[in-house]
Amino acid sequence: MKEETAENGGTRGTMDLYSRQINRLITELSGLPGIGTKTAQRLAFHIINMPEEQVQALSAALIDAKANVRYCKECFTLTDEERCPICRDTGRDHKTIMVVENTRDMAAYEKTGKYEGVYHVLHGAISPMLGIGPNDIKLKELIKRLEQDANEVIIATNSSLEGETTAMYISKLIKPTGIKVTRIASGVPVGGDLEYIDEVTLFRALEGRTEL
Ligand code: ZN
Repeated sequence: MKEETAENGGTRGTMDLYSRQINRLITELSGLPGIGTKTAQRLAFHIINMPEEQVQALSAALIDAKANVRYCKECFTLTDEERCPICRDTGRDHKTIMVVENTRDMAAYEKTGKYEGVYHVLHGAISPMLGIGPNDIKLKELIKRLEQDANEVIIATNSSLEGETTAMYISKLIKPTGIKVTRIASGVPVGGDLEYIDEVTLFRALEGRTEL
């Protein structure tokens, strides 16, 4: 009995060390979007119980993605090449530019297989409440891009307050250039995140777009 106590006492230091490491892992994980402390704890313990090779593969994937993924120099989507496959595709209509909030929304439109133009990824939306202004998203880059030939800019930001604010801002900015500006139809539910909407609805929203 006495020995056991001594043993526990002896391992306490190690336990503290472990818990520091676990705490560090939990802190890192809970810094990710949508991950609360509880989920972070669950993930941390899951990772600790994973086979070592799997943990190595996970950490290698994180480091490699960070090192190699960058913005496409044309549309600013995330890619591991200088220009993404869509911008490199000469078969697409490079004068029709669809503006989306993020790479996931772009992927959602690509899944419809019906859009032949190219994209511009803003990486966010204007939100006065969150202190996100026009300079915090890839808006200057869009305007710069429009100095080259463009026929139409299709604004496909989400139908949330931020998405609508961004759409209005962009249309005001582009209008004086004479380039046609359209907004996808409201077949997309209010507040709806584009990435969760089915392809048919997305295609209808695109077909039914109206000029701003
Ligand atoms: Zn691109």
